[in-house]
Amino acid sequence: MDATGPSGGLAGGTAMIRLSGVGKTYDDGTVAVHSLDLEVAAGELVCLVGPSGCGKSTTLKMVNRLIEPSTGTIEIDGVDVTRSDPVELRRGIGYVIQQVGLFPHQRVLRNVMTVPLLYGESRSTARARARELLELVGLDPETYGDRYPHQLSGGQRQRVGVARALAANPPVLLMDEPFGAVDPVVRVHLQDEFLRLQRDLGKTVLLVTHDIDEAVRMGDRVGVFAAGGRLAQYATPAELLARPADDFVADFVGSERGLRRLSVTPIDVARLQPVDGVRAGDLGGTVDASATLEEALAAMLRSDRGMVGVRRGPQLIGVLTPDGVHRALRASLDA
Ligand code: ADP
Repeated sequence: MDATGPSGGLAGGTAMIRLSGVGKTYDDGTVAVHSLDLEVAAGELVCLVGPSGCGKSTTLKMVNRLIEPSTGTIEIDGVDVTRSDPVELRRGIGYVIQQVGLFPHQRVLRNVMTVPLLYGESRSTARARARELLELVGLDPETYGDRYPHQLSGGQRQRVGVARALAANPPVLLMDEPFGAVDPVVRVHLQDEFLRLQRDLGKTVLLVTHDIDEAVRMGDRVGVFAAGGRLAQYATPAELLARPADDFVADFVGSERGLRRLSVTPIDVARLQPVDGVRAGDLGGTVDASATLEEALAAMLRSDRGMVGVRRGPQLIGVLTPDGVHRALRASLDA
């Protein structure tokens, strides 16, 4: 299956996004976004997070020109979006929203075919592409292709929305609270699925959420917005949790930020306890050296030994204890 390949001359690859001095004041005088500088590297997934009303959606919609900026410039791969034809522009930008926006009277397969058909693909090519995309997002086209949107669960509808946004193989994806309408369990599942997909597709993604856990889980970098459309901090999840820029960010990332850091801090393989004298059988379990501290701690808690072996491939390279977890967290603060 070649879901990432060129499709009838439609856009592909990845792109970088640069916002410089971007502001938006609505007609009624509301300053939604205030002089925003933000750069998203090609292939990067950036989460914009913050309380409601702080300008995240407005920022997103300025990138695909659903809203025109009042000041500043937005470039995609060096091209000013305000100088691009909006229809042409949106061809290169997939847009996923919370309410999905599927056509209720069209079957799932037809919903996904919409974009390729719009761009002049033959029905058979559009159908084949739509089937590929449904498979890509984990929906069997045989089972779900002929259903109507109301015959799907919220999570399944959301996947169809992602499939449709990917249909033109756009280099850029904008996602506005894409997993907001589903329950927490399905939400984590969809997040994982999307991250897996993103590892293969490498799109440049700008994702808006009000959920700090989602932002920290998904983002290569996270932009925290404060009231008045001000970017309070733009950093990797690990930096953000270890060193909030100010009280607002510290408060927003929450008092559990120490716990959240477990999920973004790798095992410090240089400081494991030696394996000498410890046999694999003495250990409650093992984790791979690439695991996060959260995964290691979870394995530790499952065992009654209170420690966990760390392996690289089949080889045991050290032992991690609760003390080691604590040390690694402290060390990552100093790093
Ligand atoms: P967020 O996505 O962070 O919740 P929004 O970008 O939707 O925030 O909104 C930012 C601010 O702009 C809010 O105060 C909101 O009420 C206001 N706003 C949004 N759309 C409009 C509009 N069309 N006219 C006037 N104000 C608006």
